[in-house]
Amino acid sequence: MNVDLHCHSTASDGVLAPDILAERAKVKGVDVIALTDHDELRALPVMRRAVEDLGLRFIDGVEVSCEWEGTGVHIVGLGFDPDNEMLSGNLASIRDSRETRARRMADSLADAGIEGAYEGALAYAGNPSLLSRAHFARHLASEGHASSMKSVFQRFLSPGLPGFVEHVWPTLADAVAWIRGAGGVAVIAHPGRYDFDAARIRLFLGAFVELGGQGIEVSSGAHTPDQYGEFAVLAREFGLLGSRGSDFHAPGEGKSDLGRGLPLPAGVEPVWHCLLERKS
Ligand code: AMP
Ligand code: MN
Ligand code: MN
Ligand code: MN
Repeated sequence: MNVDLHCHSTASDGVLAPDILAERAKVKGVDVIALTDHDELRALPVMRRAVEDLGLRFIDGVEVSCEWEGTGVHIVGLGFDPDNEMLSGNLASIRDSRETRARRMADSLADAGIEGAYEGALAYAGNPSLLSRAHFARHLASEGHASSMKSVFQRFLSPGLPGFVEHVWPTLADAVAWIRGAGGVAVIAHPGRYDFDAARIRLFLGAFVELGGQGIEVSSGAHTPDQYGEFAVLAREFGLLGSRGSDFHAPGEGKSDLGRGLPLPAGVEPVWHCLLERKS
């Protein structure tokens, strides 16, 4: 079964509208898809309708921006009630903070000689409350400040570089509590992206499990094949369910398209088993 439990639409920093994303999933042979926009549930109903009309299975999702011991981390929520007011209200607060943050990011870029980045990023985002570093990256790349999204993040927008500003995100504890409170499963997104050494990743996973976290993206578009194996070992060690997702944002952007068929190593219990059982 081709399962993709991590992707983005125009309701966050993806470039495809939900119905176009659903069509692309069908074309790419996806059987089960979750839409996981950053801190935003708005596109879930229209995506569900489009996906189910095409004969695919849909799982409600979200990618919550949060912070654990000073590091920004992302937690994917799956299979929650999309009408839960505690979850949607708290996500609205995160979105509200994005505009101020984006203005500070633009000020930091201006200090480095790059003017007009706020307006440039907003032209991609459409809405100030959705502004993410991905919108800034698209703008900076199109203006020739770097040759690709990846090199934008190597020169700008990452900790210590122009365009990165400290920001207060919710805590890991909050993110897990909101997802679980809405009846969902909390999953660590792309663990290979965080700058954790072997000891620190174990502390992180221990804290996550203690807080009620249940899953981890073992196979992610952000991981190398070697990392699928490494995170499979950790999933088993910490009793976490395994997830897989492309983290697709835009055609031709990044290395992972929808439904790339990322393998989930043997011995890891797939998170979608319990999610699909619930729906039937
Ligand atoms: P934000 O939520 O505003 O901090 O933006 C994070 C988003 O930036 C991620 O969801 C990705 O879309 C994008 N991003 C972060 N790091 C990278 C990277 N190294 N390469 C490409 N895109 C990235
Ligand atoms: Mn993104
Ligand atoms: Mn992410
Ligand atoms: Mn993502």
